Amino acid sequence: MPHRYQTVLLFGAPGAGKGTQGKILGLVPGFYHLSCGEVFRTLDVNSELGRTFREYSSRGELVPDEVTVKMWAENIRAQTILSLYKPHDDLLILDGIPRNVNQAKLMEKHINVLEIIHLVCRDKKKMVERLQRRAVKENRADDAKESVILRRWDVYEEETRPVLDYYPKEIIREVDAIGSPAAVLQHVLEVVVPVQEKHFVNVLGDESST
Ligand code: ADP
Repeated sequence: MPHRYQTVLLFGAPGAGKGTQGKILGLVPGFYHLSCGEVFRTLDVNSELGRTFREYSSRGELVPDEVTVKMWAENIRAQTILSLYKPHDDLLILDGIPRNVNQAKLMEKHINVLEIIHLVCRDKKKMVERLQRRAVKENRADDAKESVILRRWDVYEEETRPVLDYYPKEIIREVDAIGSPAAVLQHVLEVVVPVQEKHFVNVLGDESST
């Protein structure tokens, strides 16, 4: 299916740093980053979907799959129409989707998953600290309450982690999420740069640096 977007998934528990790494990568020519949570947060809060998002996210639950994947597909299509994302030039870096096995199945027709970067953080205390810092900085209701953070963790363990078993083991790469953003980025780049070079002709070449 040649029309599927060539994709790398950023995977990991809440607070592992998917968004931080994704945002940095998205600044590099040849990469396009899309965070599903960000797309949800930009919705009009008074729209039906905006209200649905608020209802689920404030409890730490996942928004229902059908509406999530539909919204994601419409959003990425809009990015291509605006030429913000160019599927023939850019490697798509997805974070926050697919978030359960059903979403992975629904996404099958849209994306070709080349590699999965699993940001691994075994220090739960550190992750809670990261999320609570973010709650203050970004005014995020779903990070403010410890009970909601813990619920999101359970949802991750029960629904999201099994996504790793859905994809072939060979494409899953574990990256240690502990360390400075730059240190983690170094390891992330080791994985994604070869993938990008293999699948895309780098027309920018040396000219991009001038
Ligand atoms: P985090 O990575 O910290 O969990 P996100 O910004 O990815 O935060 O997601 C915030 C909330 O948005 C989630 O708790 C969930 O309610 C909703 N959400 C984001 N992505 C999805 C998705 N793929 N499916 C369902 N709900 C989602």
